[in-house]
Amino acid sequence: MSRVREALGPDALLSYRLSLADLVADGQSWEEVVALARGVEAAGADLLNSGIGWHESRVPTIVTSVPRAAFTDLTGRLRPHVAVPVVASNRISTPADAEAVLARGDADLVSMARPFLADPEWVAKAAADRADEINVCIGCNQACLDRTFALRTVSCLVNPRAGHETIPLPRPTRRPHTVAVVGAGPAGLAAAAGLAEAGHRVTLLERRDHLGGQFDLARRIPGKEEFAETIRYFAGRLERAGVEVRLATSPGAGELAGFDDVVVATGVRPRRPAIPGIDHPSVLSYDEAMRAPDRLGDRVAVIGAGGVGVDVATFLTRHAAPDLAAWRAEWGVAADGGLAAPAPAPPARRVHLVQRRRTRVGADLGTTTGWVHRATLRAKDVETVTGAHYERIDDDGLHLRVGDRPRLLAVDSVVVCAGQEPVRDLVDDLAVLRVRPHVIGGADEAVELDAERAIRQGSEVAARLRGRGRA
Ligand code: SF4
Repeated sequence: MSRVREALGPDALLSYRLSLADLVADGQSWEEVVALARGVEAAGADLLNSGIGWHESRVPTIVTSVPRAAFTDLTGRLRPHVAVPVVASNRISTPADAEAVLARGDADLVSMARPFLADPEWVAKAAADRADEINVCIGCNQACLDRTFALRTVSCLVNPRAGHETIPLPRPTRRPHTVAVVGAGPAGLAAAAGLAEAGHRVTLLERRDHLGGQFDLARRIPGKEEFAETIRYFAGRLERAGVEVRLATSPGAGELAGFDDVVVATGVRPRRPAIPGIDHPSVLSYDEAMRAPDRLGDRVAVIGAGGVGVDVATFLTRHAAPDLAAWRAEWGVAADGGLAAPAPAPPARRVHLVQRRRTRVGADLGTTTGWVHRATLRAKDVETVTGAHYERIDDDGLHLRVGDRPRLLAVDSVVVCAGQEPVRDLVDDLAVLRVRPHVIGGADEAVELDAERAIRQGSEVAARLRGRGRA
């Protein structure tokens, strides 16, 4: 630090980033953190920017399930020990979060990174008292950090334009179309908002009585409540752009034929594998299980251990997302930022997570988030069964064959998370009427639930329609 200060001269601003809690065994003690901070200050730092954790740490610090501003009390503890400003970071997502950190006296300044990928107008909107219009980072890491570690172009799941800002934005249309967007999941929401903002007259039709599609399911998973922010953001854009929203309606092709354009964003339906007994009353799709959890018993087998299966297992074993104190206790974070013995709350149900593949459960989850999900399942005593063949489902439960050995999982309920199929009935019906719709999101491609692609495709529809039309 002394040499850097010497090289920079006295006028350049010099910020030093240090971890206030390594969250690894035998990491720095609090006394050592303070000593380092004071030493760095004495050597010429103008401000101390704080991070939390370390790459080897097994405590999550930035993913969705980490409560907002979970560690700023540590920044607050450091402040009295130094004279230079101390900066808080980690899971500070909204202007209200930042204001609360400052109001508590936890920091002199707040820093953030991912929120500016999610919304490059974050600061401008905050300054203009339009915080409710901010597209909030949901902490998923899918399109940013996971890409960084794969040396791919960084973008953002909720703002696919991030990293691609040089692609021209669609100009307002001179020939507005009437457009029906069918389906209000991420793809339909992005399409409806983008089209209306480009000047088209848009009607958004949704069969459920609420917006959100798969994001509405995701937000129900304890630790993924942030997904509600994206629904809120798009709902605001729809309203400001004058989109007519019709809920609880499933239009037939005939009702849509009068529109200039039809966007089919009808999403996916859970796939029902051909297992003997799949129609047994104990069997629910993941969709049904998450919308009506009171139909589930205390012992549950989950068929399919991809991203949805892991989420459902988390949903089944938790009553609700823990508050900050309970979250820190679950992960073993002591008051001084040191490690304590993790004390997870007991699981809400006994869950077995079963897959046909022999690979480890959740092998396809994100680089920076998969380990958190797997640790969460371990903490809830979820039994994982790999290499399973599904024999049948009956009153006794789920019968498997694992290798050469038969095995019965004596469960009350079986939840199927065996992939999904595109809902494209409307596409075929429209074809009969010689209407060629724009098909986006899960209705276009359902092999993997890919919210980033869905939102990107929705945003691209507006650009495609510019300049065309019947007028
Ligand atoms: S990809 Fe996810 S974590 Fe990354 S900036 Fe976007 S919303 Fe935030």
